[in-house]
Amino acid sequence: MDTANPRRRFAYAVWSVSADTRPGVPVGIFQIECMTCHAESPATDNDATPQQDWALTHTGRHPDHRGFKLTTETYWRVTPAADNPYAWREG
Ligand SMILES: [Zn+2]
Repeated sequence: MDTANPRRRFAYAVWSVSADTRPGVPVGIFQIECMTCHAESPATDNDATPQQDWALTHTGRHPDHRGFKLTTETYWRVTPAADNPYAWREG
Protein backbone atom coordinates (compact mmCIF):
# COMPACT_ATOMS: atom_id res chain seq x y z
CA MET A 1 0.00 0.00 0.00
CA ASP A 2 1.27 3.42 -0.92
CA THR A 3 0.82 5.36 2.32
CA ALA A 4 2.30 8.52 0.80
CA ASN A 5 -0.56 8.80 -1.69
CA PRO A 6 -4.04 9.08 -0.14
CA ARG A 7 -5.68 8.37 -3.54
CA ARG A 8 -6.63 4.77 -4.22
CA ARG A 9 -8.47 3.13 -7.10
CA PHE A 10 -11.32 0.76 -6.25
CA ALA A 11 -13.31 -0.89 -9.06
CA TYR A 12 -11.93 1.67 -11.50
CA ALA A 13 -13.32 4.64 -9.60
CA VAL A 14 -10.94 7.18 -8.12
CA TRP A 15 -11.58 8.46 -4.61
CA SER A 16 -9.41 10.57 -2.34
CA VAL A 17 -9.43 11.12 1.39
CA SER A 18 -8.55 14.35 3.15
CA ALA A 19 -9.47 16.48 6.13
CA ASP A 20 -13.09 17.64 5.99
CA THR A 21 -12.87 21.40 5.56
CA ARG A 22 -16.54 22.08 4.84
CA PRO A 23 -18.11 25.01 6.72
CA GLY A 24 -19.18 24.08 10.24
CA VAL A 25 -16.82 21.12 10.52
CA PRO A 26 -14.33 21.75 13.34
CA VAL A 27 -10.63 21.42 12.67
CA GLY A 28 -10.53 19.39 15.88
CA ILE A 29 -12.43 18.71 19.09
CA PHE A 30 -10.23 18.51 22.16
CA GLN A 31 -10.77 16.92 25.56
CA ILE A 32 -8.30 16.03 28.30
CA GLU A 33 -8.56 13.35 30.98
CA CYS A 34 -6.72 12.99 34.26
CA MET A 35 -4.96 9.62 34.24
CA THR A 36 -5.16 9.38 38.05
CA CYS A 37 -8.89 9.94 38.74
CA HIS A 38 -10.22 9.94 35.13
CA ALA A 39 -11.95 13.29 35.52
CA GLU A 40 -12.53 14.87 32.09
CA SER A 41 -12.47 18.43 30.89
CA PRO A 42 -15.28 19.80 28.76
CA ALA A 43 -14.74 19.25 25.03
CA THR A 44 -14.05 22.30 22.87
CA ASP A 45 -13.71 22.95 19.15
CA ASN A 46 -10.56 24.16 17.43
CA ASP A 47 -8.55 25.19 20.50
CA ALA A 48 -6.84 23.03 23.13
CA THR A 49 -6.04 26.00 25.38
CA PRO A 50 -9.06 25.33 27.65
CA GLN A 51 -7.80 21.76 28.18
CA GLN A 52 -4.35 23.04 29.15
CA ASP A 53 -5.95 25.45 31.61
CA TRP A 54 -8.19 22.66 32.92
CA ALA A 55 -5.17 20.37 33.52
CA LEU A 56 -3.27 23.08 35.36
CA THR A 57 -6.31 23.88 37.52
CA HIS A 58 -6.90 20.17 38.16
CA THR A 59 -3.30 19.64 39.30
CA GLY A 60 -3.59 22.79 41.40
CA ARG A 61 -6.50 21.17 43.27
CA HIS A 62 -4.92 17.68 43.31
CA PRO A 63 -1.13 18.15 43.33
CA ASP A 64 -0.43 14.43 42.85
CA HIS A 65 -2.59 14.25 39.66
CA ARG A 66 -0.04 15.14 37.00
CA GLY A 67 -0.63 12.77 34.09
CA PHE A 68 -3.22 13.60 31.41
CA LYS A 69 -4.45 12.17 28.12
CA LEU A 70 -5.43 14.70 25.46
CA THR A 71 -7.92 13.29 22.96
CA THR A 72 -8.30 15.02 19.61
CA GLU A 73 -11.09 14.21 17.17
CA THR A 74 -10.57 15.21 13.57
CA TYR A 75 -12.95 14.74 10.68
CA TRP A 76 -12.08 13.28 7.30
CA ARG A 77 -14.00 12.97 4.08
CA VAL A 78 -13.73 10.66 1.10
CA THR A 79 -14.50 12.42 -2.16
CA PRO A 80 -14.92 11.07 -5.67
CA ALA A 81 -12.70 12.32 -8.49
CA ALA A 82 -14.43 14.20 -11.31
CA ASP A 83 -14.57 11.03 -13.48
CA ASN A 84 -15.91 8.86 -10.64
CA PRO A 85 -19.51 7.66 -11.28
CA TYR A 86 -20.45 9.01 -7.83
CA ALA A 87 -19.02 12.48 -8.50
CA TRP A 88 -22.46 13.98 -9.11
CA ARG A 89 -23.96 12.54 -5.92
CA GLU A 90 -24.03 14.41 -2.66
CA GLY A 91 -22.70 12.21 0.11
ZN1 LIG B 1 -7.38 13.78 38.74
